[in-house]
Amino acid sequence: MAAEEPAQVSRIGVMGGTFDPIHLGHLIAAESVRDGFHLHRVLFVPAGTPPHKTERRVAPAEHRLAMVRLAVAGNPGFEVSTIETDRPGASYTVDTVRSLRREMPPQTKLYFITGADAVLEILTWKDPFEIFRHCDLVAVTRPGYDAAALDRMVGTLAGSGGAVHRLVIPEVSISSSEVRERVREGRSIRYLVPDAVGEYIWRTGLYQD
Ligand code: NAP
Repeated sequence: MAAEEPAQVSRIGVMGGTFDPIHLGHLIAAESVRDGFHLHRVLFVPAGTPPHKTERRVAPAEHRLAMVRLAVAGNPGFEVSTIETDRPGASYTVDTVRSLRREMPPQTKLYFITGADAVLEILTWKDPFEIFRHCDLVAVTRPGYDAAALDRMVGTLAGSGGAVHRLVIPEVSISSSEVRERVREGRSIRYLVPDAVGEYIWRTGLYQD
Protein backbone atom coordinates (compact mmCIF):
# COMPACT_ATOMS: atom_id res chain seq x y z
CA MET A 1 0.00 0.00 0.00
CA ALA A 2 1.29 3.47 -0.85
CA ALA A 3 2.65 5.27 2.24
CA GLU A 4 0.50 8.37 1.64
CA GLU A 5 -2.74 6.40 1.28
CA PRO A 6 -5.23 7.09 4.11
CA ALA A 7 -5.90 4.04 6.30
CA GLN A 8 -9.66 4.04 5.54
CA VAL A 9 -9.14 3.46 1.80
CA SER A 10 -10.63 0.12 0.78
CA ARG A 11 -8.85 -1.72 -1.98
CA ILE A 12 -11.20 -4.02 -3.83
CA GLY A 13 -10.40 -6.38 -6.68
CA VAL A 14 -13.02 -7.17 -9.30
CA MET A 15 -12.48 -10.51 -10.99
CA GLY A 16 -14.85 -10.62 -13.94
CA GLY A 17 -15.25 -13.76 -15.99
CA THR A 18 -17.51 -16.05 -17.91
CA PHE A 19 -16.31 -18.80 -15.55
CA ASP A 20 -17.56 -21.61 -17.79
CA PRO A 21 -16.44 -23.23 -15.55
CA ILE A 22 -14.29 -21.53 -12.90
CA HIS A 23 -10.97 -23.35 -12.44
CA LEU A 24 -7.80 -23.16 -10.35
CA GLY A 25 -6.16 -20.73 -12.83
CA HIS A 26 -8.85 -18.15 -12.03
CA LEU A 27 -8.46 -18.67 -8.28
CA ILE A 28 -4.66 -18.44 -8.43
CA ALA A 29 -4.91 -15.21 -10.45
CA ALA A 30 -7.34 -13.63 -7.99
CA GLU A 31 -5.38 -14.73 -4.93
CA SER A 32 -2.10 -13.51 -6.45
CA VAL A 33 -3.59 -10.05 -7.05
CA ARG A 34 -5.26 -9.98 -3.63
CA ASP A 35 -1.90 -10.71 -2.04
CA GLY A 36 0.28 -8.63 -4.37
CA PHE A 37 -1.89 -5.50 -4.24
CA HIS A 38 -2.86 -5.81 -0.55
CA LEU A 39 -6.54 -5.95 -1.44
CA HIS A 40 -9.16 -6.16 1.30
CA ARG A 41 -11.27 -8.47 -0.83
CA VAL A 42 -11.80 -9.73 -4.35
CA LEU A 43 -15.30 -9.72 -5.82
CA PHE A 44 -15.89 -12.49 -8.35
CA VAL A 45 -18.36 -11.24 -10.93
CA PRO A 46 -19.70 -13.98 -13.21
CA ALA A 47 -21.01 -12.54 -16.48
CA GLY A 48 -24.75 -13.00 -16.98
CA THR A 49 -24.70 -12.74 -20.78
CA PRO A 50 -21.05 -12.37 -21.92
CA PRO A 51 -21.15 -9.97 -24.89
CA HIS A 52 -18.06 -11.50 -26.50
CA LYS A 53 -19.00 -15.21 -26.43
CA THR A 54 -21.14 -15.29 -29.52
CA GLU A 55 -19.47 -18.23 -31.24
CA ARG A 56 -20.65 -20.89 -28.78
CA ARG A 57 -23.37 -21.64 -26.27
CA VAL A 58 -22.38 -20.70 -22.73
CA ALA A 59 -23.68 -22.68 -19.73
CA PRO A 60 -26.67 -21.03 -18.00
CA ALA A 61 -25.71 -18.22 -15.64
CA GLU A 62 -27.22 -19.95 -12.60
CA HIS A 63 -24.85 -22.92 -13.02
CA ARG A 64 -21.78 -20.73 -13.56
CA LEU A 65 -22.74 -18.62 -10.54
CA ALA A 66 -23.29 -21.73 -8.38
CA MET A 67 -19.84 -23.05 -9.33
CA VAL A 68 -18.19 -19.70 -8.49
CA ARG A 69 -19.90 -19.72 -5.09
CA LEU A 70 -18.58 -23.25 -4.41
CA ALA A 71 -15.09 -22.29 -5.58
CA VAL A 72 -14.65 -19.21 -3.37
CA ALA A 73 -16.22 -20.71 -0.23
CA GLY A 74 -13.62 -20.90 2.49
CA ASN A 75 -11.51 -17.92 1.38
CA PRO A 76 -12.51 -14.95 3.57
CA GLY A 77 -10.83 -12.60 1.07
CA PHE A 78 -13.15 -13.70 -1.76
CA GLU A 79 -16.79 -12.76 -2.35
CA VAL A 80 -19.27 -13.30 -5.16
CA SER A 81 -21.25 -10.51 -6.79
CA THR A 82 -24.47 -11.19 -8.71
CA ILE A 83 -24.44 -7.71 -10.24
CA GLU A 84 -24.10 -9.09 -13.79
CA THR A 85 -26.26 -12.19 -13.43
CA ASP A 86 -29.06 -10.01 -11.97
CA ARG A 87 -28.84 -7.43 -14.75
CA PRO A 88 -30.76 -8.14 -17.97
CA GLY A 89 -29.03 -7.82 -21.31
CA ALA A 90 -25.37 -8.07 -22.26
CA SER A 91 -22.91 -7.94 -19.34
CA TYR A 92 -20.73 -4.98 -20.22
CA THR A 93 -17.84 -4.33 -17.85
CA VAL A 94 -18.36 -0.57 -18.02
CA ASP A 95 -21.90 -0.93 -16.58
CA THR A 96 -20.56 -3.14 -13.79
CA VAL A 97 -17.70 -0.91 -12.67
CA ARG A 98 -19.94 2.17 -12.91
CA SER A 99 -22.50 0.50 -10.57
CA LEU A 100 -19.82 -0.74 -8.18
CA ARG A 101 -18.27 2.73 -8.07
CA ARG A 102 -21.68 4.24 -7.19
CA GLU A 103 -22.41 1.80 -4.39
CA MET A 104 -18.98 1.98 -2.73
CA PRO A 105 -17.55 4.81 -0.62
CA PRO A 106 -15.79 7.35 -2.89
CA GLN A 107 -12.37 6.63 -1.45
CA THR A 108 -12.59 2.94 -2.50
CA LYS A 109 -9.89 1.93 -4.95
CA LEU A 110 -11.10 -0.60 -7.53
CA TYR A 111 -8.83 -2.95 -9.47
CA PHE A 112 -10.33 -4.86 -12.39
CA ILE A 113 -8.39 -8.11 -12.68
CA THR A 114 -8.02 -9.59 -16.09
CA GLY A 115 -5.78 -11.78 -18.21
CA ALA A 116 -3.16 -10.17 -20.42
CA ASP A 117 -5.02 -11.51 -23.48
CA ALA A 118 -8.18 -9.64 -22.50
CA VAL A 119 -6.24 -6.38 -22.03
CA LEU A 120 -5.12 -6.60 -25.66
CA GLU A 121 -8.79 -6.64 -26.66
CA ILE A 122 -10.00 -3.95 -24.32
CA LEU A 123 -10.32 -1.21 -26.93
CA THR A 124 -13.07 -3.36 -28.53
CA TRP A 125 -15.09 -3.35 -25.29
CA LYS A 126 -17.96 -0.95 -24.69
CA ASP A 127 -16.71 2.50 -23.51
CA PRO A 128 -13.20 1.37 -22.48
CA PHE A 129 -12.11 4.83 -21.40
CA GLU A 130 -15.01 5.12 -18.97
CA ILE A 131 -13.85 1.82 -17.42
CA PHE A 132 -10.53 3.53 -16.60
CA ARG A 133 -12.30 6.38 -14.87
CA HIS A 134 -13.74 3.94 -12.35
CA CYS A 135 -10.89 1.47 -11.83
CA ASP A 136 -7.30 0.51 -12.47
CA LEU A 137 -6.64 -2.62 -14.50
CA VAL A 138 -4.43 -5.47 -13.31
CA ALA A 139 -3.19 -7.62 -16.18
CA VAL A 140 -2.10 -11.03 -14.98
CA THR A 141 0.26 -12.75 -17.32
CA ARG A 142 -0.32 -16.36 -18.27
CA PRO A 143 1.81 -18.80 -20.28
CA GLY A 144 2.50 -17.73 -23.85
CA TYR A 145 1.21 -14.17 -23.54
CA ASP A 146 2.52 -11.59 -25.99
CA ALA A 147 4.69 -9.34 -23.80
CA ALA A 148 5.56 -6.89 -26.60
CA ALA A 149 1.91 -6.44 -27.57
CA LEU A 150 0.97 -5.92 -23.93
CA ASP A 151 3.73 -3.29 -23.54
CA ARG A 152 2.40 -1.42 -26.56
CA MET A 153 -1.16 -1.56 -25.30
CA VAL A 154 -0.17 -0.42 -21.79
CA GLY A 155 1.60 2.56 -23.40
CA THR A 156 -1.46 3.39 -25.52
CA LEU A 157 -3.81 3.16 -22.55
CA ALA A 158 -1.50 5.19 -20.29
CA GLY A 159 -1.56 7.97 -22.88
CA SER A 160 -5.34 8.06 -22.51
CA GLY A 161 -5.33 8.05 -18.72
CA GLY A 162 -5.70 4.30 -18.18
CA ALA A 163 -3.73 2.84 -15.26
CA VAL A 164 -2.67 -0.70 -16.09
CA HIS A 165 -0.57 -2.76 -13.69
CA ARG A 166 1.09 -6.01 -14.62
CA LEU A 167 1.50 -8.97 -12.31
CA VAL A 168 3.35 -12.15 -13.11
CA ILE A 169 1.52 -15.03 -11.49
CA PRO A 170 2.44 -18.71 -11.16
CA GLU A 171 1.98 -20.33 -14.56
CA VAL A 172 -1.05 -22.56 -14.60
CA SER A 173 -2.13 -23.27 -18.14
CA ILE A 174 -5.62 -24.49 -17.29
CA SER A 175 -8.43 -23.17 -19.46
CA SER A 176 -12.19 -23.47 -19.17
CA SER A 177 -12.32 -24.93 -22.67
CA GLU A 178 -9.90 -27.69 -21.67
CA VAL A 179 -12.04 -28.52 -18.64
CA ARG A 180 -15.18 -28.67 -20.81
CA GLU A 181 -13.40 -30.88 -23.35
CA ARG A 182 -12.27 -33.29 -20.67
CA VAL A 183 -15.78 -33.54 -19.25
CA ARG A 184 -17.17 -34.22 -22.71
CA GLU A 185 -14.67 -37.07 -23.08
CA GLY A 186 -15.43 -38.41 -19.60
CA ARG A 187 -11.87 -37.69 -18.43
CA SER A 188 -10.72 -36.52 -15.00
CA ILE A 189 -10.87 -32.83 -14.07
CA ARG A 190 -9.52 -33.45 -10.60
CA TYR A 191 -6.97 -30.81 -9.53
CA LEU A 192 -8.02 -28.57 -12.43
CA VAL A 193 -11.12 -27.31 -10.62
CA PRO A 194 -11.92 -27.27 -6.88
CA ASP A 195 -13.35 -30.63 -5.76
CA ALA A 196 -16.79 -29.12 -5.04
CA VAL A 197 -16.92 -27.67 -8.57
CA GLY A 198 -15.95 -31.03 -10.06
CA GLU A 199 -18.69 -32.77 -8.06
CA TYR A 200 -21.20 -30.13 -9.22
CA ILE A 201 -20.26 -30.64 -12.87
CA TRP A 202 -20.60 -34.44 -12.74
CA ARG A 203 -23.84 -34.23 -10.69
CA THR A 204 -25.58 -31.78 -13.02
CA GLY A 205 -24.33 -33.28 -16.29
CA LEU A 206 -22.93 -29.94 -17.46
CA TYR A 207 -20.68 -30.00 -20.56
CA GLN A 208 -21.43 -33.64 -21.30
CA ASP A 209 -23.26 -33.17 -24.60
P1 NAP B 1 -12.94 -16.18 -18.43
O1 NAP B 1 -12.57 -16.91 -19.67
O2 NAP B 1 -13.88 -16.85 -17.50
O3 NAP B 1 -11.62 -15.79 -17.67
C1 NAP B 1 -11.65 -14.84 -16.64
C2 NAP B 1 -10.29 -14.22 -16.52
O4 NAP B 1 -9.36 -15.18 -16.03
C3 NAP B 1 -9.79 -13.74 -17.87
O5 NAP B 1 -9.28 -12.46 -17.72
C4 NAP B 1 -8.74 -14.78 -18.24
O6 NAP B 1 -7.65 -14.22 -18.94
C5 NAP B 1 -8.23 -15.22 -16.88
N1 NAP B 1 -7.70 -16.58 -16.90
C6 NAP B 1 -8.27 -17.68 -17.42
N2 NAP B 1 -7.50 -18.76 -17.24
C7 NAP B 1 -6.40 -18.34 -16.60
C8 NAP B 1 -5.20 -18.98 -16.15
N3 NAP B 1 -4.97 -20.30 -16.31
N4 NAP B 1 -4.26 -18.22 -15.53
C9 NAP B 1 -4.48 -16.89 -15.39
N5 NAP B 1 -5.57 -16.23 -15.78
C10 NAP B 1 -6.53 -16.93 -16.38
O7 NAP B 1 -13.60 -14.75 -18.75
P2 NAP B 1 -13.61 -13.90 -20.10
O8 NAP B 1 -14.74 -14.41 -20.92
O9 NAP B 1 -12.23 -13.84 -20.66
O10 NAP B 1 -14.03 -12.46 -19.56
C11 NAP B 1 -13.16 -11.69 -18.71
C12 NAP B 1 -13.87 -10.41 -18.29
O11 NAP B 1 -13.84 -9.48 -19.37
C13 NAP B 1 -15.37 -10.60 -17.95
O12 NAP B 1 -15.69 -9.80 -16.86
C14 NAP B 1 -16.07 -10.10 -19.20
O13 NAP B 1 -17.38 -9.62 -18.97
C15 NAP B 1 -15.13 -8.97 -19.58
N6 NAP B 1 -15.35 -8.57 -20.98
C16 NAP B 1 -16.11 -7.48 -21.21
C17 NAP B 1 -16.38 -7.06 -22.51
C18 NAP B 1 -17.21 -5.83 -22.71
O14 NAP B 1 -17.56 -5.17 -21.74
N7 NAP B 1 -17.55 -5.51 -23.93
C19 NAP B 1 -15.85 -7.79 -23.60
C20 NAP B 1 -15.05 -8.92 -23.33
C21 NAP B 1 -14.81 -9.31 -22.01
P3 NAP B 1 -7.41 -14.37 -20.50
O15 NAP B 1 -8.04 -13.19 -21.12
O16 NAP B 1 -5.94 -14.37 -20.63
O17 NAP B 1 -8.07 -15.64 -20.95
